[in-house]
Amino acid sequence: MATVSEEQVLDALKTISDPGKSEDIVSLGMISGLVVKDGNVGFAIEIDPQRASEYEPVRKAAENVVDAIPGILSVTAMLTAHKDAQAPQQAAPQQAGPQQGRGKQTVPGIKHIVAVASGKGGVGKSTVATNIALALSAAGQSVGILDADIYGPSQPRMMGITGRPNSPDGERLEAMENHGVKVMSMGFLVPEDTPMIWRGPMVMSALQQLMRDVNWGELDVMIVDMPPGTGDAQLSMSQDVPLAGAVIVSTPQDIALLDARKGLNMFRKVEVPVLGIVENMSYFACPHCGERTDIFSHGGAHEEADRLGVDFLGEIPLDIAIRETSDGGKPIVVSDPDSPHSKAFRAIADRILDKLSDAGETQRAMPNIVMQ
Ligand code: ADP
Repeated sequence: MATVSEEQVLDALKTISDPGKSEDIVSLGMISGLVVKDGNVGFAIEIDPQRASEYEPVRKAAENVVDAIPGILSVTAMLTAHKDAQAPQQAAPQQAGPQQGRGKQTVPGIKHIVAVASGKGGVGKSTVATNIALALSAAGQSVGILDADIYGPSQPRMMGITGRPNSPDGERLEAMENHGVKVMSMGFLVPEDTPMIWRGPMVMSALQQLMRDVNWGELDVMIVDMPPGTGDAQLSMSQDVPLAGAVIVSTPQDIALLDARKGLNMFRKVEVPVLGIVENMSYFACPHCGERTDIFSHGGAHEEADRLGVDFLGEIPLDIAIRETSDGGKPIVVSDPDSPHSKAFRAIADRILDKLSDAGETQRAMPNIVMQ
């Protein structure tokens, strides 16, 4: 197969001109974050937010010309207003920084947006996010999951959804659905073996598009499965999405919970209320004898939550049934709703609901970022 070079992509993009001007989008320095890897191409088009509606055809045209290059497997072009229009064309990685020019915007039709976050990967953040979403749904809420972990999306697998979303009007994607919960994930849009190389502005733009270019219908709660960690991408996401609150997932072996504390500080910095901490893999429930073993000095998260002045929302044991059901696309809350673990997830969901209703439906201010 022919290897595609950055030059080929840029040459193709030079055939697209800016609607208001005679120059092309490459010469105008509008292309940033270009990534070309094994025939998979991603880039952002930096635009003036005032003219957002004019640029959707430009974005589509840009994708089409690149797609026509022999050897291309996938193309993802995003619109972003991240930087000023004078930014030089860059192929180098960029970091998302604090956003400028905030306005007030909420996401129409979505009452509460709740982030599920963790200080580091592998603590079961996605597993907890999925089961909380299903528990909220079991409590009668209309629920959606936005898989913002665009580096390693797990929601298609955990929610047992395959295939690609439809777009009946050619503009907005329909959210996928299983177990009564709507789901959107980059995992539906990009083939699983595509390297997920996203750069700062593209991450934000991708998230905004997953949130706004998707027909979610009316939702009581949207659960956002955040990327693990507390880096710049997570910080700007927490700033740029009108979050009603955040839930932090931690494991007890991380005794000092330094990672969880970082997560807490990050949300505090951007004034997102932390609804509480969930201790996952809290203790080991023996599948044979039912005996409970506190292999990781259980209780660390509870004590730390008290010390930090945050609510402790509940604990979930390390149990093979939780792993098998979530990795098999039928999380425990739907596959075994009467199990003690499902009850624990439902109790956590109830606590979250109480907190959301206490806070009312007031949402945080939404920054003014380009949306199509
Ligand atoms: P993260 O989102 O933090 O990276 P995941 O939710 O993807 O973590 O979980 C990592 C792995 O651990 C998955 O295979 C998942 O099924 C498993 N897992 C998560 N929580 C539990 C638990 N309480 N008991 C057993 N396995 C779990």
